[in-house]
Amino acid sequence: MKNKIETINPYNQESLQTYKYHTKKDIDGILKQADSTFEDWRKIEIKERVNLLENLANLMEDNKEKYAKLMTAEMGKPISQSIAEIEKCVWLCDFYITNAEEFLADSIIETDAHESFISYDPLGAVLAVMPWNYPFWQVMRFAIPSLTAGNVGLLKHASNVSGTAIAIQELFEEAGYPKGCFQTLLIGHELIEDIIASDTVKAVTLTGSEVAGRSVAAIAGKNLKKTVLELGGNNACVVFDDANLDEHLETMIKARMQNTGQSCIAAKRFIVSEGIYDEFLERFTRSVLELKSGNPEDKDVFMGVMAREDLAEELEEQVNQSVKMGAKIVTGNKRHKAYFEPTIVTEITPDMPVFKEETFGPVAAIIKAKNNEEAIALAANSRFGLGTMIFTENVDSVYKEIGNIPDGALFVNDMVKSDPRLPFGGTKASGYGRELSKEGILEFVNIKTVYIK
Ligand code: NDP
Repeated sequence: MKNKIETINPYNQESLQTYKYHTKKDIDGILKQADSTFEDWRKIEIKERVNLLENLANLMEDNKEKYAKLMTAEMGKPISQSIAEIEKCVWLCDFYITNAEEFLADSIIETDAHESFISYDPLGAVLAVMPWNYPFWQVMRFAIPSLTAGNVGLLKHASNVSGTAIAIQELFEEAGYPKGCFQTLLIGHELIEDIIASDTVKAVTLTGSEVAGRSVAAIAGKNLKKTVLELGGNNACVVFDDANLDEHLETMIKARMQNTGQSCIAAKRFIVSEGIYDEFLERFTRSVLELKSGNPEDKDVFMGVMAREDLAEELEEQVNQSVKMGAKIVTGNKRHKAYFEPTIVTEITPDMPVFKEETFGPVAAIIKAKNNEEAIALAANSRFGLGTMIFTENVDSVYKEIGNIPDGALFVNDMVKSDPRLPFGGTKASGYGRELSKEGILEFVNIKTVYIK
């Protein structure tokens, strides 16, 4: 078994750092620390926990360039998007600073008791298995509500962003969180089973691939531990005949291409009604050709490299396989190491990989639908269920479609995006459970009924 992790800059393949894996003894110490910290942390007034969020937000604001540079070096995200990611984490803190006390306050329920209410108690240590695509945001989306609710966090981050994983632990400590409130485990995923089985871990949240999700959910199920899974997506961007391209084309491009296409909620399938198809394809292609690729450290670069060369190879394979089945390349489909050119593919059938699988990179599959009804039916034809977007000037026509979209989200005239105020999560192979908002903070609490006669 390997005993160290080497992080590599995917833009220039330079080695960044080498980290020693935690030993069995280290892991035992980390779990013990989590247990003892939880015993104190859970008793702390919610007001005090909320105050620490202020420190966390201020530190992120003050150091956003530093954290952004680290993420960009480790996984190739364009630097302006890395900075925006830290700013979004600050917004997340602000949201829970304003709302956490209210979300976690006892709810009085009138019954025949003298007094009956629900109290929201923390569970203990929550293990978070997290991915590299939004190395700060994905972790904070779990940690900020969970810790504020009185839990302690254990992070098993994706190995290629180990530097970020350590920086996040240090950030919590610097913000004044007690030692052990948030700890990073430097481990390979083969050790996750024992950690989930330990008495310390009470619940698990995973953001990542379906394979990883299924594996973690099976282990957690065997050990009767709760899970929240945020897995892949194959979001459709439905463009009705009357969509306003002047206003929304830029959003649609961003929906596919931001973060170099490596987002679970990205628009992966553009399902376009026949009446607007030719105009859409021409304008979409022109805009994609204008996107600036290059060194992710340059502030005006929009397209960086993919996070690892093997991920770019996998994407290339999905496109090539689809081409063998009859798909046509409009532009792109050239790869150099971890760089994958922004790509547009047409002439797509539902059995092709670019339709039925998640394409986790800058590839837009453009599908022609006979009319708006067929567009909706094609959108729902997916194993995944994270979100759907519909672009139309006739917003009233969308209400009747809400029930026909079997996803965790429906966005009209905007891209599917996460927003601290709204619940976030999927259905079907995209996972279950919700993050963010009130629903997210209540995922990892014991919803306790108190009945006093
Ligand atoms: P993974 O799902 O493999 O990685 C995400 C996290 O899960 C990492 O911390 C990883 O650890 C861990 N992990 C991997 N395999 C297992 C397992 N069997 N049991 C427990 N934990 C595991 O993503 P990849 O980096 O391999 O990316 C592959 C695909 O996953 C992408 O192409 C994309 O489709 C999807 N993905 C989806 C994301 C999302 O936001 N929903 C984010 C990232 C990927 P380690 O690094 O040690 O392997």
